[in-house]
Amino acid sequence: MKKHNFSAGPCILPASVLEKASNAVINFDNLDLSLLEISHRSGNFVSVMEHAKELALEHLGLQNKGYTALFLQGGASMEFLMVAYNFLEKKAGYTNTGTWSDKAIKEARLFGDVVELASSKAANFNYIPKNYKIPTDLDFLHCTSNNTIFGTQLNEFPQTDCPLICDMSSDIFSRQLDFEKFDLIYAGAQKNMGPAGTTLVVVRESVLGNVSRQIPSMLDYKVHISKDSMFNTPAVFPVYVSMLTLSWLKDQGGITAIEKLNNQKAEILYKEIDRNPLFKGFVSNKEDRSKMNATFSLVDESLTNTFDGLWKQAGINGLNGHRSVGGYRASMYNALSIESVQVLVDVMQNLESNA
Ligand SMILES: *Cc1c(COP(=O)(O)O)cnc(C)c1O
Repeated sequence: MKKHNFSAGPCILPASVLEKASNAVINFDNLDLSLLEISHRSGNFVSVMEHAKELALEHLGLQNKGYTALFLQGGASMEFLMVAYNFLEKKAGYTNTGTWSDKAIKEARLFGDVVELASSKAANFNYIPKNYKIPTDLDFLHCTSNNTIFGTQLNEFPQTDCPLICDMSSDIFSRQLDFEKFDLIYAGAQKNMGPAGTTLVVVRESVLGNVSRQIPSMLDYKVHISKDSMFNTPAVFPVYVSMLTLSWLKDQGGITAIEKLNNQKAEILYKEIDRNPLFKGFVSNKEDRSKMNATFSLVDESLTNTFDGLWKQAGINGLNGHRSVGGYRASMYNALSIESVQVLVDVMQNLESNA
């Protein structure tokens, strides 16, 4: 039987997507060729790329609104520097809400002044800072919508006059937002969309072209836009699988439908974390809790071996917390079923009744 996969990333993908992807590796589009051995400029692959981009914009409600979708390489980590390369002339504002924003800030500092508008670093990122001041002279403001490692998530996004840029790697396509508020959104595929190896970037074209520095072609959003994400050989397999997942999401009823399920999953698990006296949540304000990554730990660590044995026996995978937080992290991305969450809750209750 398939494991209940709570891995934080690379993460669970829908079974039907994995099956179609496997078939395409052997025989793609009945060409009697593998997807992996045809030209990325062949009509068959070009239509995969086009379809993937269309679906991404469609899900976000950003079609015909001046946005372009790109599938780039280098992971979300490459966007940390690409964003700065393309947007940072003098001064940028960042909210520091987790390890990934911290890394984004480090990269941006290579290009100009970076102001940390707010930070929860001193509290090991266990809450989302609010009510901070936003200077009026920023080139852009960067935030991270979901903090994968610590299990916090933004519910409100800053109001800005400058471009708003967001790392949505671990919650894109999981919930409805007013995506038009954002000028650039990026997301590594491997959290909620596909395999590692491609990064979705959705950018409002009108905000580009405002820095004076020379930008190397591979790091220039305008170059990738002008070449339809085919400036160089794209990551054909990750793009194909992302396209399949985005089609799957459409069949499920899109973001609105999946968000309802995601809310239910999160509610079931957090309810148990709060109810069960053997467990405690990591995040200090309940309203900041992530619906994608729930972080929690045992109150009494001497139960660790027993609990670990129980969840492994129940067929659960990927529950260990990140080393900087410890404890456990249950990642409940789009493809994870409510049944899997129920299995975890049952294990938590078993521990309680046997303790
Ligand atoms: C995983 C993750 C990253 C890093 O992604 P890579 O594709 O490995 O570079 C960046 N930001 C967030 C929010 C993440 O969850």
